[in-house]
Amino acid sequence: MITRSPALVQGSHADGLQADAISPGRKNVIAQQSSWQTQLSRAIRDPDELCRRLGLERDWTQGARQGHDLFEVRVPEAFLVRMRHGDPTDPLLRQVLPLEAENRPVEGYLTDPLEEASHTPAKGLIHKYANRVLLITSPACAVNCRYCFRRHFPYHENAPSRDQWRESLRHLRDDATINEAILSGGDPLAASDNQLAWLVEQLDNIPQLKRLRIHTRLPVVIPDRIDDALLVWLARTRLQKVMVLHINHANEIDHAVIDACARLKQAGVTLLNQSVLLRDINDSVDTLAALSERLFEAGILPYYLHVLDPVQGAAHFDVPDSEARELVARLRDQLPGFLMPRLVREIPGKASKTPL
Ligand SMILES: *Cc1c(COP(=O)(O)O)cnc(C)c1O
Ligand code: SF4
Repeated sequence: MITRSPALVQGSHADGLQADAISPGRKNVIAQQSSWQTQLSRAIRDPDELCRRLGLERDWTQGARQGHDLFEVRVPEAFLVRMRHGDPTDPLLRQVLPLEAENRPVEGYLTDPLEEASHTPAKGLIHKYANRVLLITSPACAVNCRYCFRRHFPYHENAPSRDQWRESLRHLRDDATINEAILSGGDPLAASDNQLAWLVEQLDNIPQLKRLRIHTRLPVVIPDRIDDALLVWLARTRLQKVMVLHINHANEIDHAVIDACARLKQAGVTLLNQSVLLRDINDSVDTLAALSERLFEAGILPYYLHVLDPVQGAAHFDVPDSEARELVARLRDQLPGFLMPRLVREIPGKASKTPL
């Protein structure tokens, strides 16, 4: 089912297959050729190209242009190869392809549904919940998800410089109640390992901090992001490490993702997953059960299943609360308790996510 493009076969997946046959020096050369930075810079950024690569008719791009102008298309090759060729309903494609429906305003769907703009005491820092603080570490993402609640977030104003990071770190140091730093974004792993190593070293020196949490989709969409340079700073920190991945469908987890997760687990990282419940992507009991099972095969435990945030342009992904509750009740009949995600909504002004 998974088709591999020639471009990718020349990349790191070929390394894996040939690992025993090539010298360590040669392996390094190949690894550099297909570094995650290169893969990120070569991500597809054009809706027409996305459709062409998947063998789809041009009418699938009707309306896509306008959506793309608002929030650009971005799809790395390593994610594209997990999509079914010629299938406009593919659950991975639907997460990244703008549709006509995005351009229709729907009442109640806002540009900042979580009112994050009013919770930023320092630029690039969101302190809404007790004991934990979210640091907007990198404004960029490796993939642009059409349902994203931050699709209108003023990232450019919040793109942190070292000075802004210093200000955020001061806020953490001055608040004795904060014991967990959450790196978020955008995608924090879109930042360079030099920057991340520096930031984590600063966090290490804040005595009341116990945990480092990283919310990221990069190990899913570009598994080669989990490379030696990342594992070095991750292994060095004294903080307990949690990574919350973001996977919505079992087809997102291929061998490269499983290998990346194995490297993270070896480095002592606890792996969790959050999903968003999305119409026509994962809104069935079978799909959600298969996702939980597949996550566990990769060593990841389901954490949250979010209902959609009412962000402008994403209304066509919505699943009503009553249907969401019923889906989760039926899911509970199928799965062991430890594979059940918590169904939650984020309500502005609340002190935690709200269980449904
Ligand atoms: C979701 C979120 C967190 C983390 O919440 P948990 O329930 O601990 O996973 C922290 N801060 C903000 C602003 C959040 O949106
Ligand atoms: S990776 Fe996360 S933050 Fe980035 S577009 Fe997707 S859902 Fe939004």
